[in-house]
Amino acid sequence: MRRENLTKEDIIQFSQDACKWVKEFARPTKKTKTGKIEQEGLYQRTDVTPYMHVFAFHIPLFMQELLQQNLCLQWFTTSGIEKKNHEHVRLFFGGTTMGGGTEQTAAYQINSFENRQIYFRINKTPTSYSEKVLTAFDKINE
Ligand SMILES: [Zn+2]
Repeated sequence: MRRENLTKEDIIQFSQDACKWVKEFARPTKKTKTGKIEQEGLYQRTDVTPYMHVFAFHIPLFMQELLQQNLCLQWFTTSGIEKKNHEHVRLFFGGTTMGGGTEQTAAYQINSFENRQIYFRINKTPTSYSEKVLTAFDKINE
């Protein structure tokens, strides 16, 4: 599904596989008349999340619509934005004050931090330093 040039058949196969996966996820326990378990159930139908529903029943339709216009779903991924949001949340909540102790908004603080990181990278600012040890001998011979 990561390919850009999917065919109609690929999309149909994806749709069938996704539906099969959701049905398997929510398969019921089946018992015989004597009460012996024939098939162990996994989750309840109510455990199917809206994401799973969309994945199996709407995404294939989106893919078909996009294919008709020579587009593909991969081009509309928001994973870059999700990743950035994750980094920002981690940075903010990983901070010792979590934005407290200042009048600045969280967004301002996060952007300031990132801007400093970019500045350091562009200007090749060293991120560490080595301590120089001066001994009495060095001082005499300077
Ligand atoms: Zn729906």
